Amino acid sequence: MTATERIRGRLLIDGQWRDAERFEPNRSPSDLSDVVGDYAWASMEQAREAMAAARRAQAHWGRSNPQMRTDILRRTGDGILARIDALSVLLAREEGKTLKDARGEVARAAQIFHYYAGEPTRGRGGFLPGLREGFNIIVDHEPLGVVSLITPWNFPIAVPAWKIAAALAYGNAVVFKPSEVTPGCAVALVEILLEAGLPADVMNLVMGSGAELGSVLIDEADGVSFTGSTPTGRWILERAAKNMVKVQLELGGKSPLVVLDDADLDLAVQVAYEGAVPQTGQRCTTASRLIVTRGLHDAFVEKLAQRVAAVRVGHALDPQSEIGPVATEAQLAKDLSYVDIGRQEGAELLCGGERLERPTAGYYMSPALFANSTNDMRINREEVFGPVAAIIKVEDLDEAIAVAADSDFGLSSAICTRSLTAAEKFRRGSSSGMVVVNASTSGAEYHVPFGGRGVSGFGAPEQGSATSEFFTEVKTTYINHGIA
Ligand code: NDP
Repeated sequence: MTATERIRGRLLIDGQWRDAERFEPNRSPSDLSDVVGDYAWASMEQAREAMAAARRAQAHWGRSNPQMRTDILRRTGDGILARIDALSVLLAREEGKTLKDARGEVARAAQIFHYYAGEPTRGRGGFLPGLREGFNIIVDHEPLGVVSLITPWNFPIAVPAWKIAAALAYGNAVVFKPSEVTPGCAVALVEILLEAGLPADVMNLVMGSGAELGSVLIDEADGVSFTGSTPTGRWILERAAKNMVKVQLELGGKSPLVVLDDADLDLAVQVAYEGAVPQTGQRCTTASRLIVTRGLHDAFVEKLAQRVAAVRVGHALDPQSEIGPVATEAQLAKDLSYVDIGRQEGAELLCGGERLERPTAGYYMSPALFANSTNDMRINREEVFGPVAAIIKVEDLDEAIAVAADSDFGLSSAICTRSLTAAEKFRRGSSSGMVVVNASTSGAEYHVPFGGRGVSGFGAPEQGSATSEFFTEVKTTYINHGIA
């Protein structure tokens, strides 16, 4: 695949690649003249067909030999690695993250498939003696059934990978609805799954508008695993309640990073930068509230502002770029509007927050850093999902813990300190699903649970074997064998 090749991406329904009445071009946010491909948009009828096909496929896949599932998942990971160069270019062109970040994400997707390749053979059943004389009890985990996997644009290979790999490992049939912004990565991933030997009817790919297809994807599924914004997650939860469809929601964040007076200044600045700026701030775990105690505050502000102001914003495929463009026009408008909101609220804009011109027309913006902000400002309460961070000055650890926890969101939180006692006090006081000490709020690993509290998440966590809680159903069998 080269940067000039134009892809025509089709739907996968009931084992067949299908055209649709509507195809939409997908442009690179780094260069709006670069059309990545044209992608089919599924109709409601096609989404219904996909759901029905997955239902039929689940009957054989749910009972398939675990070794077969293991082999397919392992070969998928191998297939991703074999194409890492092309996939990284595709991802960087389509989403706008730098080639280096794209490569890291593709490699991570392969690791995820390799991890879940072990799951079919691990099993998680139990055998217990009954409490009644002559009884045994088997506790079994069966596949949930047909799962709709709905994903956002910001990690267009890794997020689908961690949902698809887990769904298939535990014997579920899939209907996959990627973001309309990043269909190219979705098609490429599905192609690799089929090459790895996945029976094509087990994996159904419907692209297009989530708002349009959502009702079918929810009403006709046994479970919905969704990653995206909190408002969409709330809508899915309400809709799923009608038929009592199981849901797993990974939603937005407003993650705090606390920096205490005793922190290593250089490390704290690096941790804040890594949390707030890379991938153009478009991570659910982005550190957007930087809560700093008085003693280190001024030095931290000065050094971080220098680092953020110096960031090189450019084309995703340019090796000089440290961050690429914002992924979409709507997201850019939202990011810039929050810069205005921050100013109007009285926060001090230290640097950035401006639209940038580059040799190619794209959605470029300089990362914005605010100081003298308070936790009740909208820039500190609402998720921006862009390169906009704000510093909040506090007196001490207790105030820092209180401010960090004062949020509707609860995804990730971090602290920089040399004190083990302070770190433990922060860990206990944190209201988020993930806590990090002396490192960035981002950087989750695939073998341990990933999930948020409050409006950041709902249902079983993702990743690791913890996600089996969502992708399987428990069955308890009592056997009266009659031996006293
Ligand atoms: P959205 O919530 O807008 O969309 C996510 C997915 O849901 C897309 O595939 C979208 O389709 C689909 N969708 C939209 N409306 C509906 C609906 N009514 N029913 C079913 N599906 C629907 O989020 P973005 O794609 O804009 O991603 C950014 C957001 O995702 C941020 O808020 C971010 O915090 C969050 N996020 C959370 C993560 C986490 O793990 N906690 C990880 C990554 C991102 P379409 O493309 O057509 O709009």
